[in-house]
Amino acid sequence: MNRENIFIGGEWREGGGTGMQSRFPADGTLNATLSAASLDDLEQAIAAGERAWRDPAWRDMLPHQRARILHRVADLIEARADALSETQSRDNGKPLAEARGLVMSAAGTARYFAAACELIEGELPTPRIAGVMTFSGYEPLGVVAAITPWNSPIASEMQKVAPAIAAGNAVILKPAEATPLMALELARLFEEAGLPAGLLSVLPGKGSVIGDALARHPKVRKISFTGGTATGRYLAHVAAEKLIPVSLELGGKSPTIVLEDADIEQAARGICYGIFSSAGQACIAGARLFIHQSLYEPLMARLLALTRGLQVGHPFDPTTHIGPLINDRHRQSVIDYVALAREEGGRVLCGGEIPADPALADGSYFQPTIIEGLNNDARACQEEIFGPVLVAMPFSDEASLIAQANDSVYGLAAGIWTRDTARALRLSERLEAGTVWINTYKVFSVSTPFGGFKESGLGREKGIQGLKAWMQQKSVYLATGNAVNHWSDNKKGEQ
Ligand code: ADP
Repeated sequence: MNRENIFIGGEWREGGGTGMQSRFPADGTLNATLSAASLDDLEQAIAAGERAWRDPAWRDMLPHQRARILHRVADLIEARADALSETQSRDNGKPLAEARGLVMSAAGTARYFAAACELIEGELPTPRIAGVMTFSGYEPLGVVAAITPWNSPIASEMQKVAPAIAAGNAVILKPAEATPLMALELARLFEEAGLPAGLLSVLPGKGSVIGDALARHPKVRKISFTGGTATGRYLAHVAAEKLIPVSLELGGKSPTIVLEDADIEQAARGICYGIFSSAGQACIAGARLFIHQSLYEPLMARLLALTRGLQVGHPFDPTTHIGPLINDRHRQSVIDYVALAREEGGRVLCGGEIPADPALADGSYFQPTIIEGLNNDARACQEEIFGPVLVAMPFSDEASLIAQANDSVYGLAAGIWTRDTARALRLSERLEAGTVWINTYKVFSVSTPFGGFKESGLGREKGIQGLKAWMQQKSVYLATGNAVNHWSDNKKGEQ
């Protein structure tokens, strides 16, 4: 068990706040203890960030020079992938193989934004004023806040920190209470890669205390948040008061749709992965399954067989598919949803229980669960469970399918399984979702924008616009001659 310091303005030191712990969800053992950041620590982090991003040594550093730091971070991640995967696993219980995938994707994210920051090009608009040229370029915002959840720390944190740094900002990262370790590892990597002090601070602590104070701080010029819709809505209010940009990656209740001509094996495997990987603790989990009635029986038979074959087990066991949930409190909310689904008339076809295996008794494990017999308006179909629970529903015609798929406050993702690509594209146009997967699910490319429709979010991460989201545009007018301004001189027509 370790005692961790926190990282403020380039210094590792004891946080000034209350005690915190990181526990391994597999057995509840302590990974580390630390003290949360205090409000005074926050002030110091922000002051250091202010100095650092304005420092000419950083401000004048060219994008390709900043990129070198990100490439070094990526090199370090790749060299230490095993240790980092273990830290990620210990922090939130993800199976090691899955954690490793996320770690490697974080290296890819750093490399992508290293490359992308050179591709941000200003504009040279066509002249509209004789003797005056205009051009428009991108600048950093200043000190920015990244607030992250516990389900995929390394991925969600790198997805914010890499573009924010590539864009020239100073970032204050506030990781989730349950998972402070990965963010501190990231700080170590950036420090070792040569990021000047103050450009990244990591402030573990309670969302309602340190997260709130960070978001509200007058010097913070952007809030980028990934987490629950309620907190996101609150932070949007904070941003509105301050008139600063906010980017929100929120919840989901994503539909996956199996059309009558789908490849059953491909669909069943994709659906199983889409809901049960990460034990369903993913905003993009495909939690509502709509199957054309002609395929309902064979598809469900295959899906149940695959699901019963999934190994619920210790995250370090290479045969494990489903690790523990983040903690017992969260598991209880999943159990409550399964009970609610039963009350609403749902039939639990598999799972629905805590595993009986005594070897798993100390962890927050839950069996992968498939429920049928519910309508889309049941609460178990409308509310995000964030656990390994899938609700399956048959459909008969496309119009009612689309209506049900879109009947959700959320609009994060959707999946379509069919051999008819043209039909899939037509359907994808009608689905209210920020991401549509066709004949695959839950695969990601950092060059492709990601974000939600409706209450699933605001703004996009990833891709070039995921970088521009950390910048602001400045336009310059340059007189090329000696003409003087004339008072209200608009005689030569509109400009
Ligand atoms: P969950 O833990 O279910 O993802 P949240 O969406 O509330 O729940 O948490 C995501 C992140 O937001 C965490 O880092 C959490 O500490 C932080 N957070 C929670 N409440 C606030 C708040 N009022 N202000 C700022 N950050 C918050």
